[in-house]
Amino acid sequence: MSLADRLFRPSPEVGRILERALVGRTLGVEEAERLLRARGSDFHALLRAADVAREEDCGPDVSFVVNRNINFTNVCYVGCTYCGFSRHEADGDAYDRSLEEILDRCRDAVERGATEVCIQGGIHPRKDHRHYREILEAIHGAFPELHIHAYSPEEIDYGHRKSGMSLEDYLLWLKEAGLGTIPGTAAEILDDRIRRVIAPRKLMTARWVEIVKTAHRVGLRSSSTVMYGHVETAADVARHLGLLRDIQRETGGFTEFVPLGFIHERNRLFRHIHARPGANMVEDLAVVAVARLFFRPLIPNIQVSWVKMGPKLAQMGLLAGANDFGGTLMEESISRESGADFGENLPPEEIRRLVREVGRVPVERSTTYRILRRFDDPEKDPPSREPRPLRELGGPERFRAGVRREQEAARALGAYS
Ligand code: SF4
Repeated sequence: MSLADRLFRPSPEVGRILERALVGRTLGVEEAERLLRARGSDFHALLRAADVAREEDCGPDVSFVVNRNINFTNVCYVGCTYCGFSRHEADGDAYDRSLEEILDRCRDAVERGATEVCIQGGIHPRKDHRHYREILEAIHGAFPELHIHAYSPEEIDYGHRKSGMSLEDYLLWLKEAGLGTIPGTAAEILDDRIRRVIAPRKLMTARWVEIVKTAHRVGLRSSSTVMYGHVETAADVARHLGLLRDIQRETGGFTEFVPLGFIHERNRLFRHIHARPGANMVEDLAVVAVARLFFRPLIPNIQVSWVKMGPKLAQMGLLAGANDFGGTLMEESISRESGADFGENLPPEEIRRLVREVGRVPVERSTTYRILRRFDDPEKDPPSREPRPLRELGGPERFRAGVRREQEAARALGAYS
């Protein structure tokens, strides 16, 4: 038996599906479901096949965007059961940022090298379509070079219903004010049976599809997402992927696919509806790998979410079919308020280090995947956690000097207490 056979010996059924994907055949929804259920040697073979496909589709580059999230309000009465972010207007920690506060955050983002701001908020009952446009006008007026990636289909739905315009006119009205692309969030699982359980008052599947297709048609591209690890099954995820692929075949408007694991700690979906406590590691990696094989060649960019997965599992995602590390974010509250604890900011140099540690090449991109800067030379940008030669680390003398400094600092603190 060859080494390859000993290392990767999938079941005949999974082997056939992987073989079809690797010769460029389009996988069916049932095949995607079968792969999502892969375990043991099938799972290892799935990850390896997705990595081979990624190398063929994208090469060694791993892209990232320097961006800043700005959540302009957390007031929202939609009441999605998986949301730990929304607040009632009267809650002590409710906020509604002024245009000046939003612009301050944009200024800070630009100073830190951002090329994109991602603007999303709750559905505030006392705001309307004009508020969404005012935010765009203010940012675009002050920072015309900044790409504005803003407003989930849920926010578009709300603003559009208030506006009295046709959907196409409303989207063009926002585009004219500076809107560049829209996040393909609020998708969760595009199946009304599931939406009625996890987000009964949110827009339903047909409306999400209508908004996204119309946005693509008027030149507003979007990301695409899935939220998994709650009440859905592998079959539901596979059908969701199938729907996204159908949209992409029709419009070509998706820039990337981003799997988003459910964060369960602080919301009703887990506590009262008894959803699963998020996906396990095998599911996280399987969704990334299946997305690579299922979407090829229509959606070439598969992103890992370091906020949801954590940087280490996100690194593993890069070895399982992903070619994009997402953004620096600088400020992240939606996942954090639901219990994610992987931080709010990942500086570009940290992303480059994580990418290099798995043997790949970091490249900075725009929102729409134009390469802005390559970091080909590891000498100029060395991974900071590479082992250093022992002689550089210093011996007992440096250790004693460090202890002396700590003792002095402790004495100084004692003097003030
Ligand atoms: S997920 Fe969005 S729409 Fe739903 S409750 Fe939270 S902020 Fe509101």
